[in-house]
Formats: sequence, C-alpha cells, structure tokens
Amino acid sequence: MQLLQDFFINMMIVLALVFIYYQIFRDEDLNASSSLKRKILSGLYAGMIGLFLMIFSIKVNDATIVDLRHIPLLIVTLYGGAVPGLIALAVIQTARFIIGVSVSSFFSLGLLISLYIGYMVLRQLNAKIFTKAFWMLIYSNVVFSVVIVYFLLKLSGLSNQINFLYWVTSMLTGLMAIYTTEHLRKMNHLFIQYKRSATIDPLTGLNNVRSFDEALNNAIRETKSNEKPLSLLVIDIDFFKNVNDTYGHSAGDAVLQQFGHVLREGARQEDFVSRNGGEEFTLLLTNCSHERALEIGEKLRSIIDNHSFKVNPEENIHITASIGVATYPETIVLSDKFYSKADQALYTAKRRGRNQVCSNNVLKVNEYQR
Ligand code: GH3
Ligand code: MG
Ligand code: MG
Repeated sequence: MQLLQDFFINMMIVLALVFIYYQIFRDEDLNASSSLKRKILSGLYAGMIGLFLMIFSIKVNDATIVDLRHIPLLIVTLYGGAVPGLIALAVIQTARFIIGVSVSSFFSLGLLISLYIGYMVLRQLNAKIFTKAFWMLIYSNVVFSVVIVYFLLKLSGLSNQINFLYWVTSMLTGLMAIYTTEHLRKMNHLFIQYKRSATIDPLTGLNNVRSFDEALNNAIRETKSNEKPLSLLVIDIDFFKNVNDTYGHSAGDAVLQQFGHVLREGARQEDFVSRNGGEEFTLLLTNCSHERALEIGEKLRSIIDNHSFKVNPEENIHITASIGVATYPETIVLSDKFYSKADQALYTAKRRGRNQVCSNNVLKVNEYQR
C-alpha cells in the first residue's frame, strides 16, 4: 500500500511540475528550433524535476530505491532534442553524485546515458508524438528492468510484482505527462495566437490600432518626462478605392500588404509602424524633431511613388500616398490633439493634390509642397 502511495505521489509531482513549467514559460514553445536560452532553461527545469523525483524516490525495501527520473529526461529530449536532454541528464546525474558516489550512482550514469541515446534515436521516428513517447517509455522500462533488475540487483531486490508496478507507473506517468504537455502546448499556442491577434494587424503584420493607441500614450508620457520630441506621420493611400474597383478586393489586399512591407522597410528600426485601419497607416517616431519627421515622410513618399505594386502575376501598378506630420510638443502643444492635428495635416495634403507631405504647422507647409 505504501508503495502504491509513493508511486502515486511521484506521478503527481511530474504532472504538477509539468503544469508549472507551462505557467512560467508561456510565450515560447520548446521544440528543436527553440532559442538556445529556452533549451537550456528547459533542460535545467527538467533536471530539477528529476531531482524532486529522486528526493521523493520510492523505497522498495531497505536496499532498493527506484524513481521516475527518466520521465523529465524523456519529455525534454522528445520535444527539445539534444541540448535540453543533455542538460537535464547532467543536472540529474550531478545531483545523484552529490547524494553519494557509489556503484549504483555509476549505474545511474550508465542508465541515463543509455536512455538519452535511445531517446535521441526514437525521437527521429516518423510517428505521432504519443507513439514516439510510447516507444520511449517501453525502451526506458526495458533498460530499467535489464540494467537495474538483472545486473545491478541480480534479482535480489526487486520482485516481479514490484517490477510490474514500476512498469505500470512509468508507463502511466509518462503517458499522462505527455498528454498534459500536449494539452498545455495547445493552450499556449492559442494563448500566443490570441495575444498576437489582439495587437497585430493580420493582413500586413504591422501593429494594429489598439497597439498604436497604447504606444502613442506611452510615448507621450515619455516625451513629457524626457522632453525629446515625438513625431507622428499619418499616411493614407491616394485613390485606393480605384485599385479595388479596377483589380478587385483581393488585389487591393495584396497592395496593402506590400505597402505595409515598404513602410516597415523604409522606417527606422525603432519606429512604431501601424496599420490604423483600411488604407491608413501611421509611423510613431520617438526622439524625432519635426524637421527630421518631414524628411522621413518625404523619403517614404518618394519610395512609395517609385515602387511597383503587384496586383496579379502579370500586372504592376503605381500608387501614391499623402502624409500628414505633427510633432509634440514642437508643433502641437496639447497632447490630446496630437493625432487629430496630424490627421488634419493629412487632409491638407489630400486637398492640395495628394502625393505630398504636409505639416500641421502652416509655416512648414510650403517648404514640403511639391
Ligand atoms: P483618398 O485619396 O481620398 O484617400 O481616396 P481613397 O479612394 O483612397 O479613399 P476612400 O476613403 O474613398 O476609400 C478607401 C477605400 O479603401 C475604400 C475601401 O474599399 C478600401 N479598403 C479599406 N479597407 C480595405 C481592406 O482591408 N482591403 C481592401 N482591399 N480595401 C480596403
Ligand atoms: Mg485613401
Ligand atoms: Mg482613408
């Protein structure tokens, strides 16, 4: 009975720690192409799970202790590959040596290395994750039974009954851990997706209007404290309706996508580029004087003017855009009028014949009129 309780506790430790892992590492998955940092952290975490499992190891009799330390090793190697697997192995084995250097600690090393190599081979199987995990668990149990039971303990310590219990617990815990991991990974994917769609415009991949509002408010707050000028460019494609009317809505979408790309490429790395709706875009330029913002606006206008936009595999078209520029606090003193002033400047540009950059500061308009 005590034995059953111990196995149950070990199972719960694995599940609880897997769950906590996905609470901590929400925004990036562990897979073969994860960042090195994620792989190292995951390896360390799996090593820590192994450590817990050793602390709560199952005492079979006075001489024999078994545990489920192979399961965290299996999970990180399955999902993350060589690096996290090796780190988990190193952590678990270091802990094992700290507990005591003995014959059985070297057997643990041999066992972990054989498991690691086997896992690395089995993870290459062209099969579903559950199938791979299943064979990895079978492999673990066979290695455990052969190495530990026959060689190390020479059948003295473990009865067949205990060996059976170990097999069942290892399989059950392993499969439950994989099931939990798969479920949590799915939830995390959805979480990342929803988080992304709340801030990113799906058509262009630029920031959406919601992130723009947030970035604008933050930038205004910063400008108030550091007194560095903040410029805003409001950009609207000229006669865009004609593109839709002539080539169809999906060609219009393709043009918007390319337009977003051109803006992102033309802007500075630190500029906040957004699609604020329809064919209207903005650039938020921190630490940028009005003069400089007008230059950037003019550069973008000219890039757009000289760019060919693909509407279908055979046809390219030429479009232009009008740009309104305002700078806080240089040309607009009240921050809550910032956007509307830049927008007014845009409409001045439209009124004056489009394909031009206008400032909200009337004195600057003539300079940049074409
Ligand atoms: P103006 O130079 O005055 O800006 O003229 P315009 O035709 O660009 O402006 P208007 O506001 O009259 O039309 C904007 C058009 O943009 C109308 C709408 O069909 C189109 N549009 C808005 N959002 C999308 C979109 O997501 N995809 C496509 N294909 N078209 C869009
Ligand atoms: Mg337009
Ligand atoms: Mg518009």
